[in-house]
Amino acid sequence: ASPALSRIGLAGLAVMGQNLALNIADKGFPISVYNRTISKVDETTDRAQREGQLPLTGHYTPRDFVLSLQRPRSVIILVKAGAPVDQTIAALSAHMEPGDAIVDGGNEWYENTERRMVEAADKGLLYLGMGVSGGEEGARNGPSLMPGGSYQAYSNIKDIVEKVAAQVEDGPCVTYIGEGGSGNFVKMVHNGIEYGDMQLISEAYDILKNVGGCSNSELAEIFDEWNRGELESFLIEITADIFKVKDEHGDGELVDKILDKTGMKGTGKWTVQQAAELSVAAPTIAASLDIRYLSGLKDERVAAARALEEAGFKDDVGKVKSGVDKKRLIDDVRQALYASKICSYAQGMNLLRAKSVEKGWNLNFGELARIWKGGCIIRAVFLDRIKKAYQRNPNLASLVVDPEFAREMVQRQAAWRRVVGLAFTSGISVPGMGASLAYFDTYRRARLPANLVQAQRDLFGAHTYERVDIPGSYHTEWTKLA
Ligand code: NAP
Repeated sequence: ASPALSRIGLAGLAVMGQNLALNIADKGFPISVYNRTISKVDETTDRAQREGQLPLTGHYTPRDFVLSLQRPRSVIILVKAGAPVDQTIAALSAHMEPGDAIVDGGNEWYENTERRMVEAADKGLLYLGMGVSGGEEGARNGPSLMPGGSYQAYSNIKDIVEKVAAQVEDGPCVTYIGEGGSGNFVKMVHNGIEYGDMQLISEAYDILKNVGGCSNSELAEIFDEWNRGELESFLIEITADIFKVKDEHGDGELVDKILDKTGMKGTGKWTVQQAAELSVAAPTIAASLDIRYLSGLKDERVAAARALEEAGFKDDVGKVKSGVDKKRLIDDVRQALYASKICSYAQGMNLLRAKSVEKGWNLNFGELARIWKGGCIIRAVFLDRIKKAYQRNPNLASLVVDPEFAREMVQRQAAWRRVVGLAFTSGISVPGMGASLAYFDTYRRARLPANLVQAQRDLFGAHTYERVDIPGSYHTEWTKLA
């Protein structure tokens, strides 16, 4: 007799695939797995045995793998985004039949998903682009899942993904996002927001360390304390933990030995590119991307520090400023971080809204905030507030004007301005907090100096302008009148 068929399959057994497969098996869904390099298949079946004799079977060829699945088949792919996904689809789809579904769980560019949906449809196959967040730990124990594309493909695995996803008090961290590449797009913006959060946290660290003179053990305490309040989140929690880890190879803590160059894989850049394409201001997220680029120029920065010192610049960063009230600084930085975060999320959500309108995706922003409450890297208590803001008003123009968030920002603005001001005068860059504050101060102003820019454009390019008092479009011969 042929062995029992598996409920679902997963191809691509690196960090994410291996852990997600084990998670699915752990929830009682028999799963088949496959990987191009077969040693990873054995690694995964070994782990399935060790981690509780989970219902997982390994397969060494695409054909055996596909034929081991119940029909209609659902195959999750977790390989490197781009060409590897196309190659994997080609290998697997040769053995798949109409009605079967491919689910790409990678960080894929949404237009690739939309192209593949069309190609899959030509073969009668269904296609889903499913963003998976939460890294290794999330994949194994409960990620946040963002599936978009074929609704039928989603329905076929709904019971599985709802069990496998992280669970929060208002449900599993998964929902059908929308059509086309919406799942990948939402995951991309999630990552952009993550860039912003990490940048803002690193600025808080910089100020507390270099203006406040806080030691690593004090920083660990501060972040632990923050994690019990409005900032409670995965990123704040792991930051506290990072400050506690001693260096195995020398004195002090490991964090101080890490080279100050941030890596990246592309989703932050895509987010900023999309913001520009859609004319959505996302300065906090853009600043975090810029800082990653600048961080990469380590040698140039070292040389610049020397060149400017020779030119007479005195860098007193790291020298504790006299007169700084440490307790108050810590409290101010907490408030500045929170207010900056609201602006960053406002930018991310507005980017999603612009894309939703362009593509007709009908994204439900409250639901997006809900599925980010657990499993993913940006998970935070704060997301429940965003969910509620969109429940109060699904057409909210910006989180900044939600009555609750508006009140919170007004309450924190004095502290926020003190921190940004102190950082600037201390020679510490706070591009994230500064961009958020500038975003707030621009968005909230009924009148901006944009009138002057319009006048300039009309003067040199006859671009015309509108008036505040009389309707119509005007052009003035400025130079004749000046
Ligand atoms: P990865 O390092 O991005 O990719 C490695 C996997 O891709 C291996 O299974 C590898 O197979 C396979 N692969 C590469 N080229 C291939 C090809 N031409 N044909 C067939 N297979 C190929 O793996 P990962 O970190 O687990 O990430 C998987 C996906 O999830 C990516 O899109 C990633 O961006 C996304 N993601 C990752 C994280 C994370 O924390 N790592 C979090 C969220 C999302 P071989 O073993 O044969 O080389």
